[in-house]
Amino acid sequence: MAELGRPEKTIEILQKYHVVFQKKFGQNFLIDEHVLGKIIQAAEITKDDVVLEIGPGIGTMTQYLAEAAGQVVAIEIDRNLLQILDETLSGYDNVTVISGDAMKIDLRKTLTDACGGELPASLKVCANLPYYITTPLIMMLLEGDIPFQNLTLMVQKEVAERMQAGPGTKDYGALSLAVQYYADPYIAAYVPQNCFMPRPNVDSAVIRLTKRPEPPVSVQDEALLFKLIRASFSQRRKTLVNGLTNSRELNLSKEQAAAAVVAAGFDPQIRGEKLTLEEFATLANVVAGM
Ligand code: SAM
Repeated sequence: MAELGRPEKTIEILQKYHVVFQKKFGQNFLIDEHVLGKIIQAAEITKDDVVLEIGPGIGTMTQYLAEAAGQVVAIEIDRNLLQILDETLSGYDNVTVISGDAMKIDLRKTLTDACGGELPASLKVCANLPYYITTPLIMMLLEGDIPFQNLTLMVQKEVAERMQAGPGTKDYGALSLAVQYYADPYIAAYVPQNCFMPRPNVDSAVIRLTKRPEPPVSVQDEALLFKLIRASFSQRRKTLVNGLTNSRELNLSKEQAAAAVVAAGFDPQIRGEKLTLEEFATLANVVAGM
């Protein structure tokens, strides 16, 4: 049934509708059946699931999702693609296409309305993300109150590696910690440029973020934890004490920052990039108590 994974079918649709790729919407359409299969497999989608797809494009991944899931709700910003989606998804009665901007739309209401007035018990997100909104969109989905079980996302390879990175590595940073606070990341596949049309300038990766039922650390003040993390990585080459002192968000004197770092049990010369999430949590609780 799902025939859009074949490049020749995609080309046929693109030509029929004279599609002009919208660079501003990050349009790089998937044309590789093998990769599409891998995404569905990594997402562990079953017929019990409702899947939210951000940016269905011409409906390629949507066809695969519709075959694997109970229901698919797909949000597309480009109105020019709606007529195409009508055609490519006409064979599926379990897909709802919503015209809108996924960053602005009320997702809880959209999903509730599409699922007959109740938020479904088993919700997953699957998307070949437009790269220009990758990070804000992922953080919005992780921080929000919709109980997604997992998010399986095609993102730029470097971004996937940053999300999965651990302390002391070059990719480790504020994004790693923010993502790992909410989810367990796992890179399921690397995807070369020739799997897309048009070809992007970067390689991609499929990452699955399995939402944690609870954060892995306990802090008195979550906002403070993230301020400390941002401060520690905004000047990577500086010591943790200097990073904290220079942060406008924190308002700590050098003496206070040094006292907090020592009270949390760290060497005053340590760099923020060496700290684990647990260690940042310890520091956050020390600073909260000052
Ligand atoms: N899912 C398709 C595929 O895999 O071939 C298309 C993926 S393409 C990388 C990204 C899609 O997201 C495009 O269709 C684009 O128009 C859409 N998009 C971009 N920004 C969006 C937004 N803010 N809200 C919803 N869709 C968006």
